[in-house]
Amino acid sequence: MTVPAMVWIGGAPGAGKSTIARGLARRADLPLHPVDLWTYAHLERLPPLRPLAEDLAKGPLYAAGAFADIARLRVELVFADVRERGLGDVPAVVEGPQLFPSMADSVPAAVWLLPDAEQTRRAREERLAHADDPAGRARLESLLARDAVLADLVRREALERGRLVIEVPAEPDWPGITAAVEDALGVQPGLQPGEELSRQRQYENLAACRQGRLWQADIGLAELPPYPFACECGTSGCAATWEATPDEYDVRRDQGWLTAHPAC
Ligand SMILES: [Zn+2]
Repeated sequence: MTVPAMVWIGGAPGAGKSTIARGLARRADLPLHPVDLWTYAHLERLPPLRPLAEDLAKGPLYAAGAFADIARLRVELVFADVRERGLGDVPAVVEGPQLFPSMADSVPAAVWLLPDAEQTRRAREERLAHADDPAGRARLESLLARDAVLADLVRREALERGRLVIEVPAEPDWPGITAAVEDALGVQPGLQPGEELSRQRQYENLAACRQGRLWQADIGLAELPPYPFACECGTSGCAATWEATPDEYDVRRDQGWLTAHPAC
């Protein structure tokens, strides 16, 4: 099976991958494919996984190896998911830590963002602040140690294979980093404005709903935090979002494409 058209933004948590991927997708009318939104969908298609806590208890090296093993399987699932979107020559902007340079020979447009340790900690703590997740808090230190091993692995593999890594310092120059990423990925053909662009944004919004609800059920969250749903107006370059829960989105969706701003 050939790999579907895609550009991949890889690297570690806290490197701004999702913000940069979202910005690029909206500016260039590209389909957005954050691997995070398929986490639970992938669980159903993977062999049974050991609990993360067990891997972390065996030390950062072991946990990093376990992450890379699962990542290799998940990259194949991501290729299948993107293929299923039927995007033709329009590349999906895929964002996630699963692709390592050693797995990326068939993904020529890829770049890895690696944050320094302080930036990684800040990002993980920020994520925890948004949800009541005591198990997540308890494993923060061991996750950070694992993240550091993974970042070193990406650096080493990228160097060996001549792939591009962008280091994200503690005080990042986001416009500069964004420009470097876009430069590395090159200009790509976008989705047709109108119906096709609307349909892909809705596909992404529905993926967020599904993932959010499964996450809520999994960790027993009373209420989901609002999610920035993408505007489905179909206008080229529209980056508007609508903060709402999946339930609110479902109600809104019954009235047609979501428009997150006055009519344009
Ligand atoms: Zn819009």
